[in-house]
Amino acid sequence: MLQAPRGTRDFTPGEMQKRRYIEHTMATTFRSFGYGEIQTPTFENLELFTAKSGGSIIDEIYAFTDKGGRQLALRPELTAPVIRCYVERLQMEPKPLKLYYFGNCYRYDRPQKGRYREFQQAGCELIGADTPEAMAELLGCAFTLLKNVGLQNIRMNIGNLTLFNRLFAHFKLEKPAQKTLLPLIDKSLFDDLRVALGDCDLSGEAGDQFINLLQTASLDEIKEFFHKDDIAVQELTTMETVLDLLRNAFQVTDYEIKLGIVRGLDYYKGIVFEIDAPVLGAEKQLCGGGSYELVSLFGGTEVPTAGFAVGFDRTILALEAEGFTFPSPALDVYIIPVNPEMVLTTITIAQQLRKEGISVDFDQLRRGMGKSLKYAAARNALKVIIVGLKELEQQSVTLRDMKTGTQEIVPITRIHSTLKHP
Ligand code: AMP
Repeated sequence: MLQAPRGTRDFTPGEMQKRRYIEHTMATTFRSFGYGEIQTPTFENLELFTAKSGGSIIDEIYAFTDKGGRQLALRPELTAPVIRCYVERLQMEPKPLKLYYFGNCYRYDRPQKGRYREFQQAGCELIGADTPEAMAELLGCAFTLLKNVGLQNIRMNIGNLTLFNRLFAHFKLEKPAQKTLLPLIDKSLFDDLRVALGDCDLSGEAGDQFINLLQTASLDEIKEFFHKDDIAVQELTTMETVLDLLRNAFQVTDYEIKLGIVRGLDYYKGIVFEIDAPVLGAEKQLCGGGSYELVSLFGGTEVPTAGFAVGFDRTILALEAEGFTFPSPALDVYIIPVNPEMVLTTITIAQQLRKEGISVDFDQLRRGMGKSLKYAAARNALKVIIVGLKELEQQSVTLRDMKTGTQEIVPITRIHSTLKHP
């Protein structure tokens, strides 16, 4: 039997119904925050991703040479493509420019629950604004997006890469040391980190202090440590304004400060954040984002940029784990002709109702009434119309409510109004 490639999935109509529900809710939320949709190609020049993330990214993505000898890659994320498109076509647009997207991404990851080789991201990029209110809105938008789809329990962790870099500077941890330490910080492997810090001549109290600052949720503690560092003090002041707005204006209070958030250190700067769904266990990160600098790297005139990406598939897993009731894939009407002579009338009624935006299907197998009603129930039909001889003589049909089982005779001309106002 032929199977879908490892790490990819098919989505059945029932699953698609869930995905479209989430997509619709997220798109509505993005638009309510003033974002406009953008779409970029599924594959890009490989160089786009190596320029952003370095040559080692090739091991983690689907990179290939096409028949014309071009080095290409299936996109592993959408920030680089969107910024490439901005530099190529949108630089003259009025700022700020607010772009949102949905798109499949491809990574040569080890598949497991919540981790796939083909997965969907929803996300946005905010180009040309970095005031505290712009940043607070970005964080607020990410949180609202996940709340609006119906998630109950999510946590936002907020870090700051400017402070993170100052921390490394204070403890005199240079680039080579950072390379060893970053993956451990990223995975919160603090015991291993303590050992690695020892190898970097940072043991004992100083090592403990470093680890504590990565873990603490107390802004006061962080402020106390940095109080003589002008760069850090300024960054902390800005960050406090962002957090005040996030709490008081955007009503987001489920967040924690976490300096240990590591994102692409080469291009992220300032505020970075992640949103987790604890219910998911190991692969619990739903969203990641922050402010970054990529425009000049791609040949454009530098402007402030920030954004986030939400893992669409994990959002569904989290909703399922929380027991969320998705809108059911109901069929408005199923029409059953009692015999083949009624087929023409059946289809005519179906077509009329479809024109009114009602979803309609009809029996196409000439089954008996019992089997047809069973099928209608299996299809989650809300109403059934039975086209019978006796009723048709009176230009009427039988309308059955599938929930209550009650039936009424309705003139054909009044089907639509009866369905709308029962
Ligand atoms: P990133 O671009 O790595 O910051 O990822 C953004 C979000 O995409 C993550 O928070 C995850 O929810 C989701 N994500 C990343 N990689 C995968 C994957 N292999 N499968 C499913 N979702 C993923």
